[in-house]
Amino acid sequence: MAVDSCLDDLPITYLKGVGEKVAEKLQRLGIVTVADMLFHLPFRYEDRTQVVPIGSLKPGDSCLFEGQVELAEVVYRGRRSMLVRLSDHTGFITLRFFHFSNSQKEAMQRGQWLRCFGDIKSYSKQGVADVVHPEYQLISEAQRGQIEQGLLAVYPVTDGLHQASFRKLIKQAFLLLQQGATVRDCLPQQVLQASGFPSLVDSLQQLHFPETLPALEVSKTPSFKRLIFEELLANHLSLSRLKEGVQRNAAPSFRSAGNSQARFLASLGFELTTAQSRVSQEIMSDLSQTIPMQRLLQGDVGSGKTVVAACAALAATEAGYQVAIMAPTELLAEQHFKNFKGWLDDMDVQVDWLVGQHKGKVYDAITADIREGRSNIVIGTQALFQDKVSFAQLGLVIIDEQHRFGVHQRLALRDKGVVGGLYPHQLVMTATPIPRTLAMLGYADLDLSVIDELPPGRTPVTTTVVPISKRARIIERINKGVEEGRQVYWVCTLIEESEALQCQAAEVAAELLKECLPSLAIGLVHGRMKADEKQAVMQQFKNKKLQILVATTVIEVGVDVPNASLMVIENAERLGLAQLHQLRGRVGRGTRDSHCVLMYKSPLSKNGNERLSIMRETTDGFKIAEKDLQLRGAGELLGKRQAGFMRFKVADIERDAEMLEQVAECAEEILHKQADLVGPLVHRWIANSVEYAQV
Ligand code: ADP
Ligand code: MG
Repeated sequence: MAVDSCLDDLPITYLKGVGEKVAEKLQRLGIVTVADMLFHLPFRYEDRTQVVPIGSLKPGDSCLFEGQVELAEVVYRGRRSMLVRLSDHTGFITLRFFHFSNSQKEAMQRGQWLRCFGDIKSYSKQGVADVVHPEYQLISEAQRGQIEQGLLAVYPVTDGLHQASFRKLIKQAFLLLQQGATVRDCLPQQVLQASGFPSLVDSLQQLHFPETLPALEVSKTPSFKRLIFEELLANHLSLSRLKEGVQRNAAPSFRSAGNSQARFLASLGFELTTAQSRVSQEIMSDLSQTIPMQRLLQGDVGSGKTVVAACAALAATEAGYQVAIMAPTELLAEQHFKNFKGWLDDMDVQVDWLVGQHKGKVYDAITADIREGRSNIVIGTQALFQDKVSFAQLGLVIIDEQHRFGVHQRLALRDKGVVGGLYPHQLVMTATPIPRTLAMLGYADLDLSVIDELPPGRTPVTTTVVPISKRARIIERINKGVEEGRQVYWVCTLIEESEALQCQAAEVAAELLKECLPSLAIGLVHGRMKADEKQAVMQQFKNKKLQILVATTVIEVGVDVPNASLMVIENAERLGLAQLHQLRGRVGRGTRDSHCVLMYKSPLSKNGNERLSIMRETTDGFKIAEKDLQLRGAGELLGKRQAGFMRFKVADIERDAEMLEQVAECAEEILHKQADLVGPLVHRWIANSVEYAQV
């Protein structure tokens, strides 16, 4: 090896003891080069800096102790084992071995000194401590107390490779560094200086061979923080690269004359809010480019995203392109379908919808229309992903309620639309407000537009939290509400895994309400009904033929009936904040005061109590999301999309959230000024774990 060898390029087989077999095992841990070995970090440390007198060993401790063999015997109590009794003038301890060789047994001569490390289990009735399979070494009396300095790192291991092997390999790697080899430091000099991070080698040295247990949590030490920073940075960069990759593609440019849009807006009966106009313009400007738009449209429930989506869709259809709109549920797909059809029917735009229930001739007819270009706007669920569905000229993909879709699905839909080398534009809409820092990390591949105001005349929903024991009072209140001309949602929730039970609960609730309120028209929708049945009931509710709609959480997303101004949610304590916020967003859509009653079953857990309290205190989706982040954690908040993405080696998105802003700034710098660092960083931290890093 040349003295200036870079360990990033040096295969792991260079190290002593790594043949083909071991290399294969290491590869399973993502270790391919010697540098990778350095990044295989310990997950804890053992304190071997002190020899603990046997007399003061406590159960539960992991300690180093030394003692002299008093007696070694092989016993057959159920199982053959070797018991070694050790003493050091302060007490006795029993070492217990179930696997041992003859030579091990031979070595346990009376008077032999041993140095051991192990977990102290329990005390026997005689008060003798017990330890099973300690690590041990034979020492001479003169060697007593002569222990290595420092803490011992404990590594994640894999089948057939032990701690000791990892320790040896890592020692070898550091030896190479001492001999002049290098490992690539991927942080720009300015960042190192500004943040006071140690150099990479110092960081790694500290983490593998700390001298003392850090006074702080390990994750708070500068050495560790530096690595966390790198990992977050690598993630950010990989998403940026993903975005750049997409932007190298060409897209059709829609320079809409705006005629159809103007007609559409004029037909609405309301003016766009300032925020809606602003984001519409942002979108139009993207659509006029020849690179694919990748925009996230974020707006709280009821902020009017659908109208904005329709404007975008019109720009595409006017240019002769098709639009695919993806919704997470059939109910919502159908609602969008009805809305779009109502809005656009007299504008020579053919709107179709395609969901799972479309079969046979109907299915064939719709897919033929899509394939042959007669459909201008197609609204659907996952069904749009099917291989059998192909578009004549797809120009824009709109995905509603993004948190339900994964990044892979998004990319799949995009690829479906490639025609003549042109990629469709993408608009992703979500009502889940994502704290800014998280958005920077989780959605770095999307540009962001925010609708930050609600249409005028909305009054915030008043929320009350009541125990289920007050059910009769609530039913009374519903009755009053209906007399005032209100429509009511009654939402049933149950253990989420069982849709069947949830539907049953809704049926029971509907029966009960019918009994209590015999003069009212009460409808029921749940997930097990056929889509046309569901739709028929929804339509009746919309047309005010029904006063009360009993529903499962199928109505959670997107359902829009402005005259509904009272909502009761049963077992609200079972739902997460995001879901509660979504549900509550179904009321407060009209101009009259709206109310939401959160009914819970006592006793409330602390967490449940906190959730319901925040719901009572605020309707601000942003505040609710922040609280959600605090209570639930980031991984869940960002949803499945992040499942692959959030598996960090050293970072913890909640714990390290405060770093994200600096990470984002640094990523910008690197992308503009030191693009050569992107590859190595992404490779080092992500290449082996996240497939889409390579896109
Ligand atoms: P969301 O952002 O939750 O998808 P919707 O697009 O469903 O919201 O809009 C909620 C309701 O507000 C709909 O009834 C819609 O027609 C209405 N709406 C949208 N924009 C405006 C506006 N600028 N003024 C008045 N009402 C509006
Ligand atoms: Mg919506």
